Amino acid sequence: MRSSDGVKAQNQDKPFNPHPGSGDSDQLLAAIVESSDDAILSKDLNGTITSWNKGAERLFGYSANEAINQPVHMLIPPDRYGEEAEILERVRQGDRLDHYETVRKRKDGSLVEVALTVSPIRDAQGRIIGASKVARDISDRKSAERARRLLSAIVESSDDAIASKDLNGILTSWNAGAERLLGYKASEVIGKHVTLLIPDDRLHEEAEIMARIGRGERLEHFHTMRRRKDGSLVDVSLTVSPIKDESGKVIGASKILRDITENVRMQEKLERLVAERTAQLSDMVAELEAFSYSVAHDMRAPLRAMTSYASILQEDYTAQLPPAAQDFVRRIGNASQRLDALITDVLNYSKISRSEMELGNVDIANTLREILESYPDLLKHASHITIAFPLPGVIANRAALTQCFSNLLTNAIKFVPAGRTPQVRVSAERNGEWVRIWVADNGIGISEEGRKRIFTMFQRLNPSSEFEGTGIGLTIVRKAVQRMGGNLGVESEVGVGSRFWIELKAAS
Ligand code: ADP
Repeated sequence: MRSSDGVKAQNQDKPFNPHPGSGDSDQLLAAIVESSDDAILSKDLNGTITSWNKGAERLFGYSANEAINQPVHMLIPPDRYGEEAEILERVRQGDRLDHYETVRKRKDGSLVEVALTVSPIRDAQGRIIGASKVARDISDRKSAERARRLLSAIVESSDDAIASKDLNGILTSWNAGAERLLGYKASEVIGKHVTLLIPDDRLHEEAEIMARIGRGERLEHFHTMRRRKDGSLVDVSLTVSPIKDESGKVIGASKILRDITENVRMQEKLERLVAERTAQLSDMVAELEAFSYSVAHDMRAPLRAMTSYASILQEDYTAQLPPAAQDFVRRIGNASQRLDALITDVLNYSKISRSEMELGNVDIANTLREILESYPDLLKHASHITIAFPLPGVIANRAALTQCFSNLLTNAIKFVPAGRTPQVRVSAERNGEWVRIWVADNGIGISEEGRKRIFTMFQRLNPSSEFEGTGIGLTIVRKAVQRMGGNLGVESEVGVGSRFWIELKAAS
């Protein structure tokens, strides 16, 4: 490297010396100048460069050989020539210029921001013969300053309140947005403790926030409240970030507060509206349920009369009726039985929906036994129903649970293809605090699409088939399970069978 850069090598051998003379102190001075980080150069009163140190070479890009004896103008952007003339004039008068911030031009044409210190150089007789210049590169500092100014302009013009505090909670800055939002001027709060702004019932939050900041974490859009100068409270969304020093140590926190009064007001309005509508709807549902209950209930008496008269006709007058009339009477009997089943289901559904639902420990095995004994249709098939003991106790309402099992078992027996003997299995499994009870059959199965519909009222998947029904049974099961705080579902394979389950809390 050295051999290819003759000039440099020469400079190193011959240190900078603005006053050629003799003596150790001159040499020492020259060494100091040469090793300085700053650019140090001198010029005569005509503006010709007379010396040039390493720092100048680094800053401006010219070697000593390239610079010495050249006009100092080569370092000055043309629009600043006037400035140079002024500086020279002041030097002539013996003035010194301290930290004069300006711009200079490098060898490659680029500009650099510098701070100049210019002092006159005198000869032995005290006459001014030139000037020494120390130029320091301040472009880093300048751009940092510009960035800072830009940032503070942004902060100042922000609509949000922006403030900062140290780790002791002492406020250290406060923008115009903060002044607008909270009513305090910067001078009224800087140096004060941040608790000034925090309502008493929120003070505990501040300790938590500061603990998180201490760990270098950031807190975003935290909904809280702040107290204004006039004592009123304001809903704010708070974002807090740690402020770190150069070594990465957290030394404080910056906070951005956004006024969300309007959002909160809208939210509350919406919630009120939803609550009102929900109340209206449940009133309507209750009215409808009461209506359907009384209609069903009132239909029962005339229906019973029709059923009884039809069966009297059938039993006591069959002989007197021609075959066609006999058939009509039989049809009337069937139709009224179907209507009766429908009414029973509607009433059962109303009961499950409206009655008090007291919950207690219920023994499933006992409940099943009672159901099998009291439902003739099921009793007939008792031998096809297996129960896998033991069955854990559950928290339920006895009547509601009876409704569930009677419906599930009736369906399990009913939806079996002609010619297949029904096989139903009831089992249970404990799952933490829950008990899941399965009712599995070997019936026709339910398609995926069907499984989505069957728990809705009047949904029957095969309405025109041999399977009679009202389409209310599973709706009753769903309502009952829901009112007992449980869950239910079904798994099924078409043609193979279905497994319905209900899940209730285990008995205590
Ligand atoms: P219903 O049995 O009176 O028709 P449900 O509400 O009990 O009414 O059942 C609704 C529909 O779900 C039935 O019509 C039937 O299509 C289907 N379903 C219910 N249980 C079974 C089952 N175990 N196997 C096959 N299909 C079933």
